[in-house]
This record gives sequence, structure tokens and C-alpha cells, in this order.
Amino acid sequence: MSDKLYDKILEIALKRSILIPSAELYNAVSGFYDYGPIGVLIKKKIETVWKRMFIKMHGFHEIESATIYPEIVFRASGHAEHFADPIVTCKKCGMKWRADKLLEERVGGSYDGVSEDQLTRMIKDNNIKCPKCNGELTDVARFALMFKTTYGGESKNIAYLRPETAQGMFLDFQRIFATYGSRLPMGLGQVGKSYRNEISPRRILIRLREFTQMELEYFFNPEIDDIKEFEDVKDVVIPIMGKDNQNIENITVLQAIEKGYITNKIHGYFVVLTKQFYDMMGVKEYRFRQLNDSEKAHYAVGAVDLEVNTSFGWIEAVSLAHRGDYDLSSHSNLSKKNLSVFDDKVGKKVMPNVIEPSFGFDRLFWCVLESSYRPVTDEKKWEWFDLPMFISPYHAAVYPLVKKEPLVNTANDILRSLRGKGLDVIHRATGSIGRRYARADEIGVAYCITVDFDTQKDNTVTLRFRNDGRQVRVPINRLYEIITLFTDNDVRTLGGSKKVEEFPVVK
Ligand code: AMP
Repeated sequence: MSDKLYDKILEIALKRSILIPSAELYNAVSGFYDYGPIGVLIKKKIETVWKRMFIKMHGFHEIESATIYPEIVFRASGHAEHFADPIVTCKKCGMKWRADKLLEERVGGSYDGVSEDQLTRMIKDNNIKCPKCNGELTDVARFALMFKTTYGGESKNIAYLRPETAQGMFLDFQRIFATYGSRLPMGLGQVGKSYRNEISPRRILIRLREFTQMELEYFFNPEIDDIKEFEDVKDVVIPIMGKDNQNIENITVLQAIEKGYITNKIHGYFVVLTKQFYDMMGVKEYRFRQLNDSEKAHYAVGAVDLEVNTSFGWIEAVSLAHRGDYDLSSHSNLSKKNLSVFDDKVGKKVMPNVIEPSFGFDRLFWCVLESSYRPVTDEKKWEWFDLPMFISPYHAAVYPLVKKEPLVNTANDILRSLRGKGLDVIHRATGSIGRRYARADEIGVAYCITVDFDTQKDNTVTLRFRNDGRQVRVPINRLYEIITLFTDNDVRTLGGSKKVEEFPVVK
């Protein structure tokens, strides 16, 4: 893929207010993006599918925790000590740069976990200068990634904005465990904002300072590291790279566990679920990669990332970590409250272990836009987004063929009726019908409903399907049923239940 794709998508995203640089009036600080109306509609639909697939289908629980915690929470979580990036400063212009990313771009390879001294030497050996002014760079130093604040007007009350949503699930674990019958395993998840003071935010949504995460913490007894759902998925083939391999192997998830790439069957199950989720989102080119010891986060026993090939190259989109009992044990130590629980299956107290699928929403959103972008062709003379139907921002657009009564009135009735039932619907009465179709396609609207002169005679309208422009006649009173049949997706069938080819020809 070329840089052109990135440019085109950004152009449409800005033009249609899918994305808006935050505080643009004041020259926008990089690393912050607002989601405009269309962006939000797609975002909420994607989050709903994620919650259904990762939380609701399993009977897990969703929470919404605070985004600011006192410093002690992050001393326990290890972020206060470990969560920092290696940086260099330009001696001439003062710009700060991520040392590892500079090396990645200039020399290639990965520099996760390489010490500051080694990075300093590599930057000197490769004669790397400031990318902005070509000035001399300082030695590598560590830069803390958490945003710091204080509460209650006391400078000694130090707090941080959370760098991951996960800690909320660990802090609330004990209470929720008791509320729901004190039984392992238990899953807690949440979708919300996380904050990281990235030194060089870039590539639109890929490295932000404020971003949305969708995270699940699956608490289990380490002596029972299995999950019943694994049996159903053990033969699913996944593309995966072991930590010592440079090539992708297409092997079953069971084989990946046997080879030691994935820590256990629970971990394997969530790897498959992640693959299925990305498949549903229409993202095609991805691989799983086992992280080596220097790349793994400080809390991880083992970790596998999902990486997607984008126009920016391969990027990490999901991290699937086995966090062991790192968090619950650390919080037990620092709070002096024992968070171990009695598991009646083994008749003793255990400190639960945790498998965590951690999705970055914004990177996923970018991948979805790139994968669904369709250029101009002979058949379609405009660019458009072939979004999976169930995440189309609008279920439908309602158009009177011309701006005349009674067409406009009937179109308004249809609009109100579909909106009243909860569908996202837009309307427009002016402009040629072809142009109105094109504008709807561009942002991936699933269906266009056109009210014409025949509508008054037989109470039918034209329903036009985005992907191929196919049109059928549909009775007005069946619109809701037909539209939801094709846009409300059932995660149990992974998007495969209703193929667009089954688009109905209704008389
Ligand atoms: P991590 O805890 O670093 O493994 O992050 C988990 C997920 O959050 C990643 O796989 C990304 O999708 C997302 N993420 C992390 N940092 C950023 C960032 N600066 N901007 C956007 N997404 C991020």
C-alpha cells in the first residue's frame, strides 16, 4: 500500500468530518483527534460489536471506572517505575524524539527493551541527527509517559491519568467477585479513554496522546488454565510468528500453544476471538506475533500482539497478554488487603491470574477505513467505504426523488418511523439522485430509500444497496425488518449469516 491511500482516507475523513483535529482553531496539538458525527456513529457500532463478542456473549461484566487515580495505584501497577520511553533532544532546536523510533526508521529493526546506553551508542554509530534541523542529538534519557496532575489543590496529592483502562478492573475485582457469587473464572471489561504523553505522536490515529481502549481482564485459577470454549476453536488456523522466527506460520491455535508461542488455552481462545473480530471488521492483512522478553510489558508472563499491515507498515493493533498475578499481588502488597480468593473447585485460596486482550480502538478504526476504502472504478465513479453493514454509520438515507409534495412528506414519515425505532437515518431532498447516492456511498451508508411517484400508488419505495447499486421495490411497512435483517449482525455467526448476495428481491 502506498502513502496515497493514507492521503485519500485522511482527505475524506476531514472533508466529511469523520475526524477533526482537536482544538483546530488554535492550531491543534498533535496526538489528539475528535471523532465527528459520522466517526462517532461508526465508533459506537464497533464498540457495541466488541462488547457483545468479548463481554456479553460470555456472561462477563462491564464496568466504567475512574480515569484519574492517585499515584499509589500506579506504584502498585508498576507504571510509575516502568512506563517511560527513551528520548533524545536536539541540541540545536530543542525538539524531542523517540530514540527507538528514530533507529527503527533510519536503520530498521526493533529496539524495544534496548538500554539507554546502547541506544545512545547506536544513534552515534549511525550518525543520526535531528530529523527537523539536522542538529546534534543528546544522549538518550527516559521520559515518563503518564500525564501527571494533582487533586484538591494540594501539590502533594499527586495523581495520574490512566495509561490503560485495566487497573480499574483490578481495583474493583474484589467487590464484583463477591457480588457475583465468588466464582472463578470471571471476566471484567471496559471501553474508555486512556492517556499517554507520547513524545512524538504521529500518523493520525496510530500514536495518540488520548485514545480509546477496549480491554477485557479474564480472571482464572492458575491451576485450571483452560476454558471450555477452546474445544470449539482449537483447529482454527492463525498466521503467527514465534519470537525467534522471522516468518509467518499458518498453524492451528493448538499447535501455536504446543510450540510455546501462546501461553495456554485461555490465551489461545482469546487469540482466536481477536482474529474473528478482525475478520468481521473486514481487515484482511494481519498476523499474530509472540513478543520476546525485551519487548514484553513489565507485567507480562507472555504476550502476543495482533499486527496489521497498513499504509504505515505493520502496526500493533491488539495486545494479548498473560499478566499472571502481577496486578492483584502488587495491589495486595501495597494496599495490605489480600485479594486472593477461595476457589471451591480446588478447595483453597488462590491468587487469580489474568489473560488480557487489549484493543486500541483508534488503530482499529484506521485499519477499518483503510481496508474498506474503494477507489473509483468504471462501475462506480466515486470513492467509497465498503464498511461491514453492521458498522455503517447510517443504516439508511431517505430521499424523495424530487423536492415535491407528496414525496417529501412521505419521505419524512419514513424518516421519523425508522428513527423512532432506533435506526440511524439521514435525509436530503435536493440535488440529483445520482449525486445523493454518491455522497451516501462515500461514507458507507448501507441503504438508500427513494420515494418516487409510484409510492403513492402502491406504498412501495426503491431500496438501493450500497455495494452494487442494486435496487429493489420494497413495501414501506417492511423497510425496518429488511434493513435490520442485513445491518444488525449476530456475532455468533461472525458476520456470515446474511450474505449481501441474499439481498432480497421483494415485491
Ligand atoms: P499496550 O498496553 O501498549 O500494549 O497497548 C494496548 C493497545 O492500545 C495497543 O495495541 C494499541 O492498539 C493501543 N495503543 C497504545 N498506545 C497507543 C497510542 N499512543 N495511540 C493509539 N493507540 C494506542
